[in-house]
Amino acid sequence: MVDWDVVIIGGGPAGLSAAIYLARENLKTLILEKQLSGGLMAQTAKVDNYPGVAVGTSGFEIAQTMEQQAKKCGAQIQFDDVKNLVQLDKKWQIETSTEKILAKTVVIASGTKYRHLGVKGEEEFLGRSIHFCATCDGAFYQNKTIAVIGGGNSAIEELPFLAKFARKIYLLVRSEIRATDSLWQDVQPLIKSGQVEMIKPASVQEITSENNQMTGLKYLHSQDVKELLIDGIFVFIGLIPQIDFIDNLNINRDEQGFIQAKNNMTNYEGLFVCGDIKSGATRQIATAGADGVKTALEISRYLK
Ligand code: NDP
Repeated sequence: MVDWDVVIIGGGPAGLSAAIYLARENLKTLILEKQLSGGLMAQTAKVDNYPGVAVGTSGFEIAQTMEQQAKKCGAQIQFDDVKNLVQLDKKWQIETSTEKILAKTVVIASGTKYRHLGVKGEEEFLGRSIHFCATCDGAFYQNKTIAVIGGGNSAIEELPFLAKFARKIYLLVRSEIRATDSLWQDVQPLIKSGQVEMIKPASVQEITSENNQMTGLKYLHSQDVKELLIDGIFVFIGLIPQIDFIDNLNINRDEQGFIQAKNNMTNYEGLFVCGDIKSGATRQIATAGADGVKTALEISRYLK
C-alpha cells in the first residue's frame, strides 16, 4: 500500500494548486476527486478575471490545464468519493467508496455545492427544469423564457451566457444586487433591451406544475403573491460547504459550516484546509489557488 505524504480531497483550483507545489517538493501527493477536476470553476462558461489567462477562457479549459500541470509535476489523481476520515497515530486514514488510503497529512479542498431554494415543488424538478449550472444546461432553453434567481456574482455573471439562448429572462432578486459593479455593468445592455427583466424584491415561494410538468413559480413581491409562467429556472443563491465526510470529527467551523483554520491547519494535527470551503474565503479562482499554494508551503514546513 502506498503511504502518501499528502492526500488532497478535491480537485478544484485550491486542491490542484496545492498539488502542483507539493509534488514539486517531491512529496508523494494524491488528489481524490469525486467527479471532474475544476470544481465549480469547471462549470463556468467564461472566466474574465483570472490573471494571466486570456479573457473569455472557459473554466473547464483552465481546470484541464491545471490538472495536466499537477500530473506533470508528479501528483496523482484518482476519481473516487471520500466517505470518512479517521485520525490514527500520526497518520490519517481516508476511506473512499472503494478503499482505505493512508497519509501523513490530509488537505480538505472539497469546495462548495449550490444552495437550493428549499420551496415546495423544487425537489421534483431538480435537473429537469431547475438548474444550477448555466454552462451545463443553458443550451436547453433556446428561444424559451427562463427565470434566474439571485443577486450575487454568480447570478449576474451567468446572465450574458444564458441570454445567448433564452428569449426572455426574468431576474428575481430577493433584496439587493450584490454583484460587483463591473459584472452589473456588463448586463446593462441586456436590461435596456428588455431581454432581461429584473423583479425586485422577489422571494420565491413555490414551484408550480401541471401534469408533472413545471409551469413556473410563485413569488412574493412586497405583500403580493405573483406568478410567473416560465420554461426553466436557474438558481444561483449561494454556496454551502461539502463536508459530509467529516461528520465524525469535531472540526471547528463557523456558523455557516465553513471550516476554520490557523495557517491553513484545522484544530486537528495534520489536517489542513484550503479554498472555498475555508471560513472567510474570498471564493475567487485566484484566491482559491493562492490558498492552495499557501497550504502546500505550510505542509512542507510541517512535514520537515
Ligand atoms: P452570494 O452569497 O454572493 O449571493 C447570494 C444571492 O442569493 C444573494 O442575492 C441572496 O439574496 C440570494 N439568496 C440567498 N438565498 C436566497 C433564497 N432562498 N431565495 C432567493 N434568493 C436568495 O452567492 P453567489 O452564488 O452569487 O456567489 C458565491 C460566492 O462565489 C461569492 O463569494 C461570490 O463572490 C463568488 N463568485 C465570484 C465570481 C466572480 O468574481 N467572477 C463569480 C461567481 C461567484 P439576499 O441578498 O437577499 O440574501
